[in-house]
Amino acid sequence: MNPVNASPSFWSPVVAGLVPYVPGEQPAISNLVKLNTNENPYPPSPRALSAIRAAAEQGLQLYPDPESTTLRRAIAARHGLDATQVFVGNGSDEVLAHAFFAFFQQRGPLLVPDITYSFYQVYCGLYGITQEVVPLDATLRVDVETFARPKGQDVAGVVVANPNAPTGIGIPLVQIERLLQLHPQRVVLVDEAYVDFGGETAMGLISQYPNLLVVHTLSKSRSLAGLRVGFACGQAHLIDALNRVKNSFNSYPLDRLAQAGATAAIEDGGYFESTRQTVIHTREGLVLQLEDMGFEVLPSQANFVFVRHAGHDAAGIAAGLRAQSVQVRHFRLPRIDQFLRISIGTPSQCEALVNALRGVLAS
Ligand code: PMP
Repeated sequence: MNPVNASPSFWSPVVAGLVPYVPGEQPAISNLVKLNTNENPYPPSPRALSAIRAAAEQGLQLYPDPESTTLRRAIAARHGLDATQVFVGNGSDEVLAHAFFAFFQQRGPLLVPDITYSFYQVYCGLYGITQEVVPLDATLRVDVETFARPKGQDVAGVVVANPNAPTGIGIPLVQIERLLQLHPQRVVLVDEAYVDFGGETAMGLISQYPNLLVVHTLSKSRSLAGLRVGFACGQAHLIDALNRVKNSFNSYPLDRLAQAGATAAIEDGGYFESTRQTVIHTREGLVLQLEDMGFEVLPSQANFVFVRHAGHDAAGIAAGLRAQSVQVRHFRLPRIDQFLRISIGTPSQCEALVNALRGVLAS
């Protein structure tokens, strides 16, 4: 039964109109080569795992630190900031949701690239924010000059993912700076979920730009998608706003295990460096193999590649791969419906992908 028709009279009117985000599938199939949701193929830092075990054995009967002080200090130390410039949440999705609520319910539309992380548009729907879609250029790059608006025209803010998703293409830092200068009265949110795989971070611009909010996640480069930790960095006045929203919603978004594991993961710089370099190296090898097979591969600075094949339909390739237990992501969306997004796995997962692709392309 369609739930919208089942019991709409119990619902707040806004609920029927929501268009919720649909996450990539998490199938419970043991031998699946899972390259569809951009997780890290390597386990988290052993130091994170032992911190989580220790936290599980002590104090779970007590609420966690509502302010995640130790974790915020560790993040601040890593990025050369003060802990008052760091906000943490239950995955960067929650951080983004609070940021949309805190900063973008303003007069005028929120400027968002037409092809980007599709959750942005879901938050706009949830909070009644009007968005104005700014098309990527013909090469699927963000052209920052198209975010300029005539003086006096209201804009609620700007959101970009850098590197962008699902294209994987990075935005050079000078262009991020240009965005900040184009809209000095509004928050420019830079979602750097994938930046550790080769992008340029805007963290170093925070002291100069009171309108910059940089959002990170521990789900990708720190291998902790299952723990749900994300954070935002910006000047203290932006972090204060996020805290006001968070403390009007949930005082304890990060449990004790998440705070302990995330802190240890942030502090284990050596493990982070080696896994992220391995993923980058594997990506470079996979790109060459895919190009050899006739794929066009967009230049990726992320832990995934976005590819298309002139001779084969993307949905058909995805279905053919799935039949061989390899899962990739296909978006049935305008402009990108002939592309596939493939997460970077271990070398042996990538080999399985390439072998399966050979079969699909030959059939
Ligand atoms: N931003 C982007 C661009 C993403 O692709 C994702 C992952 N789907 C997120 C944010 C959210 O990541 P998480 O909630 O796991 O921190």
